[in-house]
Amino acid sequence: MQMAKGIKVFKFGGASVKNAEAVSNVAEVLQRFKGDQLLVVVSAMGKTTNALERLAQAYYNRDEEAKDAIYAEIRKFHEDVVTGLLKSSSSHTYDDIENLFIELECLLETPPENDFNYNYDQIVSYGEIFSTRIVSAYLNEYGIRNRWMDARNFISTDNTYREGKVDWLQTEALIQHKLKPILQKQIVVTQGFIGQSKEHATTTLGREGSDYSAAIFAYGLGAQSVTIWKDVAGVMNGDPKLFPDAIKLDELSYSHAIEMAYYGATVIHPKTIQPLQSRNIPLYVKSFLDPGAPGTLVSTSISETHIPTFISKQDQILFSIASRDFSFIVEDNLSRIFSIFASHGVRINLMQNSAISFTVCVDNKGEEIDRLRDELSIHYAIRTNEHAELLTIMYYDDAAIQKATQGKEILMEQRTRFTIQSVIK
Ligand code: ASP
Ligand code: MG
Repeated sequence: MQMAKGIKVFKFGGASVKNAEAVSNVAEVLQRFKGDQLLVVVSAMGKTTNALERLAQAYYNRDEEAKDAIYAEIRKFHEDVVTGLLKSSSSHTYDDIENLFIELECLLETPPENDFNYNYDQIVSYGEIFSTRIVSAYLNEYGIRNRWMDARNFISTDNTYREGKVDWLQTEALIQHKLKPILQKQIVVTQGFIGQSKEHATTTLGREGSDYSAAIFAYGLGAQSVTIWKDVAGVMNGDPKLFPDAIKLDELSYSHAIEMAYYGATVIHPKTIQPLQSRNIPLYVKSFLDPGAPGTLVSTSISETHIPTFISKQDQILFSIASRDFSFIVEDNLSRIFSIFASHGVRINLMQNSAISFTVCVDNKGEEIDRLRDELSIHYAIRTNEHAELLTIMYYDDAAIQKATQGKEILMEQRTRFTIQSVIK
């Protein structure tokens, strides 16, 4: 693997490109790095992905009325951004965006495939295509010369639609041979979140997957660093909405960051860290509103301070699973229970077992949870407890536990030397 020392990967999320003003702020941020070798990864604008999800559903349900209305809404939103940004209406960007919408419209006219997830990826991926077309054109007009490239030419996945699994070898080869030489000459703007299967169908990498895309590119390039530009100062030791006296963490180790993301801190997508860690690529989380500020550095940090960090996952449901035939909950029952969870795609956030019961905490994600409960009930006696919160405190002390759990009922608790996790209500 040849290291490309100079290349930086920047990721701008939906909030950083949510309207014309936000996009022009992105240009101001990039102005500071004009001379650098830059790969700029951008996600869909604002809440576009949510709107496209609704569009995919309407298309699949053949609900023409909803389909037309949502399509029109998405189109208007992007046209407004373009008008707010680009000076000359003769700019070919207008035609470009127009053509993309016509392409999407044609897709929406064809009958849906049976596989919803396949349809989803073909439609929802447009959000990133629209946004990057607009951002790239605006940057060129603003004087930041760049080339738009299609991330699907580089990010190779299997055909697990909505959750594409990356083919790392193939992806790295494509990035090394086809992207790196271009980046050494000019800034490239590309999409987060999307990839391509071996059959050349568009895939997506899972919601909020643009951070992950940035990490995949950085891994393939052997980049110097990744910067995720956010509307917050950096990674905080708690969600400021829930913990008003939360403070910014200056430095964080990869492993601390993985745990935080995994247990529900939404500031970084959980899959982002490991590819970076494996190649020792530092990750910065910085504010696009204050680009000169240091933000948070995630690395093999040895100077990380171990202050209590609070991570809260809301809307949890607790399943207590007990046998009906007086059998103990040991290997055979556990393996059956795990396979039922896996077959419903429900990820277990926390679990605990005793001789006669098994308790798990999962995200309460609608219908799939009902189906899971139905299937478990065939074999086991099930009790559930809804509207719970999974609270993780890393580097806890008594005061931290006291502060976060005061007045709450504790339904389940687990501690290790550095981390305590409680399901509370
Ligand atoms: N646009 C995608 C989403 O909203 C990917 C991302 O924003 O990271 O899920
Ligand atoms: Mg997004």
